[in-house]
Amino acid sequence: MKPESHMPECNYSSQIAAYYDRQLPMAAQQAISAHLPNCAPCQAQLQWLRQLSQQLAGAAAPPAPADFMYRLHARIDGEGERTLLRTAYSLLSLAACLLLAITLWMQRPGQAAAESTLAWETTAANPQSDTTQEIALAQWIVQDLSGGKAHE
Ligand SMILES: [Zn+2]
Repeated sequence: MKPESHMPECNYSSQIAAYYDRQLPMAAQQAISAHLPNCAPCQAQLQWLRQLSQQLAGAAAPPAPADFMYRLHARIDGEGERTLLRTAYSLLSLAACLLLAITLWMQRPGQAAAESTLAWETTAANPQSDTTQEIALAQWIVQDLSGGKAHE
């Protein structure tokens, strides 16, 4: 359902998305605000952007379990917000590194790559010391975000 398919050309149509995101200079914002009441295609495009934005917002925030926020705050109070954020960032970095390693390994199945792969596989399979708490926390986050009850 693309709006372009049934819309005639309009000089402003290419700027509607930027207008919706309030990315345009003040003068351009005002010009489009004045133009919109007189242009059905631009109105339709703006409406489409609003609907799309609402759908994306709904998809990004699925209904959480009733006690999710309570447990999240309790967990943050226990762990400390900085620790939680730092853990989340470090997990993202770890995931990116693993993805890169896997990608490189699949593209270059040589002996050297296989040895380096074994190293991180060993680390991932035998989490010790610092990473143990982070991995446990990551598992808790994944379970809660997916609505799982494995840790209950
Ligand atoms: Zn227009």
